[in-house]
Amino acid sequence: MNTQQKIEALRDELRQHNYNYYILDNPTISDYEFDIKLKELQALEDANPEFFDANSPTQRVGGTITKNFKTVVHDFRMYSLDNSYSKEDLEDWEKRIKKMVDGDVHYTCELKYDGASMNLTYENGKLIRAVTRGDGVQGDEVTANVKTINTVPLRLKGDFPERFDIRGEIILPIEGFLKMNEERIANDEEPYRNPRNTASGSLKLQNSSEVAKRPLECLLYSIKGNNLNISTQFEGLEKAREWGFKVPKEAKLVNSIKEVLDYVAYWDEHRHNLPYEIDGVVIKVNSLYQQDELGFTAKAPRWAMAYKFKAEQVSTRLNEITYQVGRTGAITPVANLEPVQLAGTIVKRASLHNADQIEKLDIRVRDEVFVEKGGEIIPKIISVDLSKRPEDSVITQYISHCPECGTELIRPEGESKHYCPNYNGCPPQVVGRIQHYISRKAMDIEGLGGETVALLVKEGLISNYADLYELTKEQVIPLERMAEKSAENLVNGIEASKQIPFERVLFALGIRYVGETVAKKLAKHYKSIGALSSASALDLVAVDEIGERIAESVVEFFSLEENKIIVERLKTFGVQLEISADKLLNQTEKLKGQTFVVSGVFETISRNELKKRIEDNGGKVSSSISSKTSYLVAGDKMGPSKREKAEKNNVPIISEQDFLLMV
Ligand code: AMP
Ligand code: ZN
Repeated sequence: MNTQQKIEALRDELRQHNYNYYILDNPTISDYEFDIKLKELQALEDANPEFFDANSPTQRVGGTITKNFKTVVHDFRMYSLDNSYSKEDLEDWEKRIKKMVDGDVHYTCELKYDGASMNLTYENGKLIRAVTRGDGVQGDEVTANVKTINTVPLRLKGDFPERFDIRGEIILPIEGFLKMNEERIANDEEPYRNPRNTASGSLKLQNSSEVAKRPLECLLYSIKGNNLNISTQFEGLEKAREWGFKVPKEAKLVNSIKEVLDYVAYWDEHRHNLPYEIDGVVIKVNSLYQQDELGFTAKAPRWAMAYKFKAEQVSTRLNEITYQVGRTGAITPVANLEPVQLAGTIVKRASLHNADQIEKLDIRVRDEVFVEKGGEIIPKIISVDLSKRPEDSVITQYISHCPECGTELIRPEGESKHYCPNYNGCPPQVVGRIQHYISRKAMDIEGLGGETVALLVKEGLISNYADLYELTKEQVIPLERMAEKSAENLVNGIEASKQIPFERVLFALGIRYVGETVAKKLAKHYKSIGALSSASALDLVAVDEIGERIAESVVEFFSLEENKIIVERLKTFGVQLEISADKLLNQTEKLKGQTFVVSGVFETISRNELKKRIEDNGGKVSSSISSKTSYLVAGDKMGPSKREKAEKNNVPIISEQDFLLMV
């Protein structure tokens, strides 16, 4: 096998594994084996750029930056759907249909996936573009982002038409959505509101590798094209499945409106067992011939109808408003409700967001309130049933002091939340910070869990994360449910955390607004906690992508005497508070302020290694040439257009050797 054949074989194999995993839900190799093969392919492609393929499985990881999405006119207009809400609506619809077409009418019932609509165009079995619905006539081209979605096939299988469009919904399954939110909360970021908005927002991210990190899926429901050789909607769905698309199996072919209603009733009740959200059912006349006869109104096809489920709402009594204190001291008011069945779960609590929200709705204890579970996962109170308000009810007074420690709350200007400023004495803040410190993405301390942390604090054994390093086995053993072995694991786990690299320690410190990414940036720029802690807000904002809010928070953190002491102690215990020596060894600021574009194949160094050298020496790597580019590093087989563009913009072209001399 020559190299090209080898590359093709690997691509085919990986495509099949992708299909088994994402479409059939039936993987035949481990994730680890898959990664090894993918890396092998990546290495071969890197070494042989002449065999580049935009639809290779390696392209799923993204990396393309799109500043402005191109507007594209759809080949087939993307219509909206008419809505129905009752049995009568559907029966009227059938009457209208029967007036216009002859013969029996059958219907395909599908779920109405709640996400963002997407039109995919395939030519010769390859995905050539992906366009959002936009206004129905034209939308935005988001191909680079859509390519990262694993359920979108980049190459088709079987006997597909030469060119066609296929439509689907980009959705974010609930589990993935909740996981993303967990991470956001851990990073001290505002959680996303609902899966639908998060899915559609994802399509417009400029960096496709960010999109690749999101567990999006694409569920298909309609094929458009000329000479497709398909005669019914249901057959279209089956064909799409054969070509490798994800088409939910819940779609059903039925023979009457009565059966449609059964389908609707079934899914209204069972929709909460699905892994994703739906907001109704879509019913389509099955025969494409009949569809043609029926045609379109100005807005929607006459042959399709959405049946919208009612957003589920119940009324229940508000028993009490309590206030939660997060690890950053932020206060969240919570409505404690008389338990009630809603959308497949029993609801006992609802978020009240903040003081303004309570005031706006004039929510009072003992009110009968309407609770809705719409697109949002956490139920919310939408209104108060004023007719049922007790005569002696009193306006809700938002708390002025922390419910946990009694300190007077503050509300920083421009923020919607109140905070407890008792940084070191407020128990949920103290415990929360230590829990964050030991969490998986931070110090990842094995053998120590969140509950044990709470217990250790309660027992007075620790009151900040530096105290962890002085814990002994003997102190821990007497704790509830602590066997000798677990105590030993705990102490060993803490010891092992001394090897965790600086950037993660920085994240673990729990400085407000310093999430994982920001921590990496700061670690790389300042290289040690000493340098970072003496930086002023002005210095900080000069660092790429560090804004004022972050800068102020960092300065504040290091201005607190308690924090200085804790950091000093971490240092004496041997926690990594600077970038390790071997990482530092090759790092300089020689290329500071300079932007490089790298193109072609190199002799003594791989392209990735070259990029790393640029970054290690303080330079920036960009993917396209502009007047801001400082140098184009040209290797073998560089395209003529790059050269032209460099010459046009007066960008000096340098060789691999020139570059290596520079550093
Ligand atoms: P609406 O936005 O309420 O007018 O509803 C039309 C939208 O429903 C379409 O643009 C699709 O994005 C979406 N949709 C979700 N599931 C389906 C489905 N099974 N068939 C057709 N459209 C669907
Ligand atoms: Zn407090």
